[in-house]
Amino acid sequence: MAAMLKYDLFPGLSRRDVLRMGAAGAASLALPRFASALAASPTTTSGAERELYAATLLDWCDGMIRHQIAGIADPNLRGALLCPACGLIHGRCGDAVYPLLWAAHHTGNEKYLRAALDVNAWTERTVSRADGSWVNDLTLSSWKGITVFHTIALSEALEHHGSLLDAATRRQWTERLERAAHFLDGFISIETGNINYPVTASLAFLLTGRMLGQQKLVERAHGLAHEALEHFTPGGFLTGEGHPLDAVTAKGCRPVDLGYNVEESLPALALYATIAEDGTVRDAVLKALATHLEFMLPDGAWDNSWGTRNYKWSWWGSRTSDGCQPGFALLADADPRFREAARRNLEQMAACTHGGLLYGGPDYFANGEAPCIHHTFTHAKALATVLDRASFEATAKPRPNIPRDEPYGVKSFPEIATHLAAVGPWRATVTGYDFEYAEHVQQGGSGAGGGHVSGGALSLLYHQTLGPVLTASMTEYQLIEISNQQTHREGSHMALTPRVECGPAGAFTSVNDLRAVVTAQHGENQAAFEAVGRLLNVARQAPEGKEPHYRLHYRISESAMEIAALVDGGTDLRLVVPVLARATDAVEQPDARTVRIIRPGGVLKITLNGAAAFEPVAAERTFNLVPGFQAAPLVVRLTPDTETVLRMEGVLKAG
Ligand SMILES: [Zn+2]
Repeated sequence: MAAMLKYDLFPGLSRRDVLRMGAAGAASLALPRFASALAASPTTTSGAERELYAATLLDWCDGMIRHQIAGIADPNLRGALLCPACGLIHGRCGDAVYPLLWAAHHTGNEKYLRAALDVNAWTERTVSRADGSWVNDLTLSSWKGITVFHTIALSEALEHHGSLLDAATRRQWTERLERAAHFLDGFISIETGNINYPVTASLAFLLTGRMLGQQKLVERAHGLAHEALEHFTPGGFLTGEGHPLDAVTAKGCRPVDLGYNVEESLPALALYATIAEDGTVRDAVLKALATHLEFMLPDGAWDNSWGTRNYKWSWWGSRTSDGCQPGFALLADADPRFREAARRNLEQMAACTHGGLLYGGPDYFANGEAPCIHHTFTHAKALATVLDRASFEATAKPRPNIPRDEPYGVKSFPEIATHLAAVGPWRATVTGYDFEYAEHVQQGGSGAGGGHVSGGALSLLYHQTLGPVLTASMTEYQLIEISNQQTHREGSHMALTPRVECGPAGAFTSVNDLRAVVTAQHGENQAAFEAVGRLLNVARQAPEGKEPHYRLHYRISESAMEIAALVDGGTDLRLVVPVLARATDAVEQPDARTVRIIRPGGVLKITLNGAAAFEPVAAERTFNLVPGFQAAPLVVRLTPDTETVLRMEGVLKAG
């Protein structure tokens, strides 16, 4: 293995010296060189913030190395990263080459260099194709659009850390990138895949065009970036996460996915605009980042409770995209909130990291779920980009607020038929979004039923002190992308969106009606929403016979949040409110109309009016992979034509 190392990693030592000392010993000698290289870099940093980026990235690199196949000589396996959640090798694991090389450069430890070379070699042996492409997976998906992302990762690895490689390896990688760029040149147009592919291809063409000195590629970068500008709404949303890209629904909505936009498209476009010094694109990205930032929760999570592709929603972002950090951190000079957003999201990801791997949501670890390693190797790239390219200038100012820190009342976003409320300590999302996403790209996905919620659902409720209280999941959990989602194990799991439902197993619910009418009102320190629609199943069919209609009111004030539910018919009618609660949060039910959930910051008290009563709360927590929470499901039997009001209050600890 030592023969794979490049000996000028260790200046002043001969090859014989390095072999005699062992690489680890030589690496320790090399540290001062790396330290001085970092000190001389233009990214002069303020300590704690940069340290969190670096420490998290190193932790992830160590986690990936612990899952790298090393003990099996078979070249079809050796060097790949084995996923503990999926029990397979994700074909894209070679993207780890970039963060692993960052770690090698940062620490001087040869184990990271060896890991980077090994995972890259595996990639070339298995998922590389003669036409210059890389495919998504060994067997589950032969999608070649993914070439965009490995091209960017390999380009960034070479550009920032190519000095760690010997000349032959650098030449080999450069030639491979040239073949990839020429494949993409014939493969990518603005219509290829969802919008994140052509948008990120602009960055792939720019990086390779500059590296190879090929103006044609640079022009392709410019062309795609400017075509992408036509897919921003006047309000600042990037549309096109769904087909057709320019689709407009009955409610006038466009296909938008928060996760893909903030973690893939906008960061790539920000990097494109920065390197190309393209002011037009930069201005569009700045506006879009500000709009998308409206959906960041105070804990750094992304509220994608409504997005077209939220089957991959994880509390911190999206399962297989790269991470929001480059977009927000690279353009932070324009808006100090951007740097804060990148940092809070990093803190959220760090909190979801255990044993060096990023788990798919806050409660995956507690629920005994394994982490899909895909999250780690893609999000590691985003942190490496920030550490290589962003500035962390020290500032004496306090950390700035992000939009949802402020109790601003109500904001409405017609492009996605979604409203946000911020009243007192409550942050809420109500959605009637009616874009239906159908997956055409990946093989194996069922593509039938199961998507983002609609119907005027209360798709998110967050309390400033108590944290997340309610959240949407998919209407029904489905594997839309078979190699990019996890499967529910044994144990309780259910849809988490608060809802009214009827019929056997609650098949007909208030989250499926795309035609539901949602209205919003707000006054002094209060907000109110009304949703009127039909109880439908995931195929958007009503029960046979009478079509039951519902009316839901959400009333939010400083002191409480109320859900008032009224249904005009249907059998086995229920109000189902799964309240987020870890197994370690005690759930008390002192009487039939009261439930108390004991959180670290205080108590969430939930009460019912009139004759309504909670069913006994199950001792076992339920769980949903999207977006990764445990919950205590509260169930209330409803009587037709009788309004039932559920009231939530936060009782905080003194001091
Ligand atoms: Zn996996």
